[in-house]
Amino acid sequence: MLDELTEKLEKALKKITGQGKITESNISETLREIRRVLLDADVNYKVAKDFIEKVKEKSLGQEVINSVTPGQLITKIIYDELVELLGNQSSELEVNPNGLTTIMLIGLQGSGKTTFSAKLAKYLKNKKQNVLLVAADVYRPAARSQLKILGSQINVPVFSIDESNDPVTISVESLKYAKENGLNTVIIDTAGRLHVDDEMMIEAAKIKERVKPTQTLFVVDSMTGQDAVNSAKAFHEKVDFDGVVLTKMDGDSRGGCILSIRAIVDRPVKFVSLGEKLDSLELFYPDRMASRILG
Ligand code: GDP
Repeated sequence: MLDELTEKLEKALKKITGQGKITESNISETLREIRRVLLDADVNYKVAKDFIEKVKEKSLGQEVINSVTPGQLITKIIYDELVELLGNQSSELEVNPNGLTTIMLIGLQGSGKTTFSAKLAKYLKNKKQNVLLVAADVYRPAARSQLKILGSQINVPVFSIDESNDPVTISVESLKYAKENGLNTVIIDTAGRLHVDDEMMIEAAKIKERVKPTQTLFVVDSMTGQDAVNSAKAFHEKVDFDGVVLTKMDGDSRGGCILSIRAIVDRPVKFVSLGEKLDSLELFYPDRMASRILG
């Protein structure tokens, strides 16, 4: 994960960590190099620019120039700024203490939404929640059966109305079913399309309005770089969400989306998904991710 980004950052920082004494021009040169590395990793242009400016401001303080280990100090400044960029603290899933917790998942087709819904169900079941999965993706032909198979693998019931093509009705009915059957957590897998389109947004907004979810999570394929950030922006404007799930982090994601998304939509990353297996899910910790990135 993110190996290329880590390698290039290490290389850029090596030039400066080896030096006993550094000058303003050494610092500027290193930061220019790091900016290039970030842009190569597909980090949003403005996010990369702001990041470098912040690091530069801190690095040019006398403290760094006069330090005996200026390189290490700069590395520490970059680490701190990365943690900040990634959201500082981990952000747990919000639950409704007084009743039903409803989690609505939105995102493009193929983002890993259905897989994530089962992963989340397993994660919450392990936390002693009584979970219901809801098959509200009525457009992708295999989505309902895929969810039913996943549900049976983890012993979590799946609510579906096979004869209905109305995701709003399915979602609303699922809440009744959960209440009647003593379940306290509902995860709604909504439909995605291949590209951002108005119809999908209107439908997701309608479900949201009727269900009033405790949390809405936007699921996005981390391998899609700037496209991931653009779709996050579109969903944020049209439907809005409380947190982000980055999937396929086990692949060779260049890192751009991970570093840009929070700054662009101002919503925390809550989970990262690291494979097709149902237990390959991690809570997102900004400090751990920053350490991973810096190697
Ligand atoms: P949906 O259309 O958003 O519901 O996407 P799916 O859940 O069907 O996932 C699309 C494809 O991505 C499937 O082949 C999944 O097995 C795969 N997938 C989902 N999450 C991950 C992940 O974290 N890592 C990897 N490598 N593949 C994933």
